[in-house]
Amino acid sequence: MKVFFLGTGAAEGFPALFCSCGVCALARTNGGKDRRLRTGVLIDDTVRIDLSPDTLAQVHAYPQLSLSGLENLLFTHTHDDHFAVRELQYLSPNFAPCRDTPVRVWGTEYLLGRIRVTMGKFFEPAPLVLTAVAPFQTYPVAHLVTTPIPSHHKDDELCLNYLLTEPETGKTLLYASDTGWYHAPTWEFLAGRRLDAVVLECGLGGSDAGYEGHLSLAGCVSVREKLVAEGGLAEGAPFYLTHISHTGLLCHDELSERAAPHGISVAYDGLELVF
Ligand SMILES: [Zn+2]
Ligand SMILES: [Zn+2]
Ligand SMILES: [Zn+2]
Repeated sequence: MKVFFLGTGAAEGFPALFCSCGVCALARTNGGKDRRLRTGVLIDDTVRIDLSPDTLAQVHAYPQLSLSGLENLLFTHTHDDHFAVRELQYLSPNFAPCRDTPVRVWGTEYLLGRIRVTMGKFFEPAPLVLTAVAPFQTYPVAHLVTTPIPSHHKDDELCLNYLLTEPETGKTLLYASDTGWYHAPTWEFLAGRRLDAVVLECGLGGSDAGYEGHLSLAGCVSVREKLVAEGGLAEGAPFYLTHISHTGLLCHDELSERAAPHGISVAYDGLELVF
């Protein structure tokens, strides 16, 4: 399975849109791995998770990638950094005359309702096939068996992380953004379940203060230790952090140095993970 990191930044980007803190200043100077667009991944070139407000910038940044053939889009939740739903209007024939297939969109019933309302405002319908998903059920998404699991991220909305499995190999990715510390049913579902790679949000970085629906580095270490202890995740399996915020006070190299002793790597924009 191939995971391409289109963006690895938190909601406000890194450096952040309107911030001049020391970390943002350093990131502006450093560029490279310290320049993070809003979070999203493309899996096996065909399945996208989340649609960030930076989607057009991502398409321009990686000309080898084209979303012209995108057929499946999974959504985790409706925070603006993941759910730039108005961009979907540009799928309509007026804007994308060469497309001849719809995009199948997967998300909660609530999220799909938000899409219906927004899409209804445009003069031309976008070719979307909306499919509601429920936690702990499995769905065929392109060539992958996909299982949504609830995260602990937003009190007024069911937010989802995803397990994606290649049926022929059994290889499974846990894609976990945005996450927080899971409630018991999710932990029970994951206990002992085979995971070959994990992508986990670290929205709080080196800070333990901030939105409680995100994880700090210490929280991410605890998640990894629990998954390993419960038998589903091998010690050496790829484990990458994403959704990195300047408020976490750490640039890429510093965060990587702190994470490495725990068997954890830090993703960056443009990284391709193959496992
Ligand atoms: Zn987010
Ligand atoms: Zn800043
Ligand atoms: Zn969020």
